[in-house]
Amino acid sequence: MKLATRMSRLGTETAFEMLTKARALEAQGREIVHLEIGEPDFDTPSNIVEAAVKALREGHTHYTPSAGIPQLREAIAEEISTTRGIEVNPGQVVVTPGGKPIMFFTILALCEKGDEVIYPNPGFPIYESMINFTGATPVPIPLLMEKDFRFDIEEFKGLVSPQTKMIILNSPHNPTGGVLTREDLEAIAKAAIENDVMVLSDEIYSRMVYEGEFASITQFPGMQERTIILDGFSKTYSMTGWRLGYGVMPQWLAGQVANLMVNSNSCTAAFSQWAGVDALKGPQDESNKMVKAFRQRRDVIVDGLNQIPGFRCLRPKGAFYVFPNIEGTGKNSQEMEDFLLNEAGVATLSGTSFGEYGEGFIRFSYANSVENIQKALSRIGEAMAKL
Ligand code: PLP
Repeated sequence: MKLATRMSRLGTETAFEMLTKARALEAQGREIVHLEIGEPDFDTPSNIVEAAVKALREGHTHYTPSAGIPQLREAIAEEISTTRGIEVNPGQVVVTPGGKPIMFFTILALCEKGDEVIYPNPGFPIYESMINFTGATPVPIPLLMEKDFRFDIEEFKGLVSPQTKMIILNSPHNPTGGVLTREDLEAIAKAAIENDVMVLSDEIYSRMVYEGEFASITQFPGMQERTIILDGFSKTYSMTGWRLGYGVMPQWLAGQVANLMVNSNSCTAAFSQWAGVDALKGPQDESNKMVKAFRQRRDVIVDGLNQIPGFRCLRPKGAFYVFPNIEGTGKNSQEMEDFLLNEAGVATLSGTSFGEYGEGFIRFSYANSVENIQKALSRIGEAMAKL
């Protein structure tokens, strides 16, 4: 039986493949330090767990409205209004099982053959996968280490064309930890308005900014009506397995995205949504503690990697990833990923998992304990010394 042609255009996220490879080695008795997957190692804060248990006991075990329960949509609208300093109403919010479906739904709803989509490369692999899936043309903007992994604004302007339908932003950025400045965002906003382009602003790491303030492109005049904010609970509240995220977008698009929810998931799990209300309205100390811990871990991993010959690592301003250049080791990215897994017992991801401009780099997620990060660093140092 022949698959539909569109399936040949669908990409993947290799973090899950690496996790499987690492688990297979563990099953053979090897001990692996997991620095491959972008998932906080902390438990979900207990007030959130209790809220979910209470919701289950109270019978919130049924379908909900497709765009989400009104209480959560209201809480999200309030959260985004406060943290971004903009005015959002609950009708602009669609709750989804994780933030990822917002990529899937909005790219599917807006882009098609003949459209061009500008997206960061290296970048989260699902952007390119979804652009290709819809038949639109992916237009990568290379993120260079020399530019702190920010956009080269002149190069960006050169990529915008009459065919450009969407620009995808991700700041703080996976896999580099780079953060776009207010000036960068202003220039991107200007180009988006002049060329009548939509922006998908993936702000899932908005709480994890270690220097300076988080800025959203929606803060510039005229941008709210052409921007989709993607955010969620996975990273901020260590809730990856709960599958809870959302998009905030113009109301005309929110209705279409809700219809894609009707056609796919029906709704997000009811008890996860009730837990989300508590996450946003309850105490934030646990989440703030996680951010503090990430900052400390960032310093440990950056300092450690820079002592290993052949590794050059920037100190990123956000998210929980570092993206060192490894060209000085004589290995390419894929060779380094294999070498670190097999010789050092450290699971990482090749820079090329994030696109062609990731060659020469390797991604470490430092969402792991300082102890494990130090163990990984010393094992990498030893394995490299034997090369
Ligand atoms: N956006 C980026 C840049 C990410 O790194 C991730 C997860 O790794 C997501 C979105 C999606 O997260 P989730 O679907 O768990 O909310």
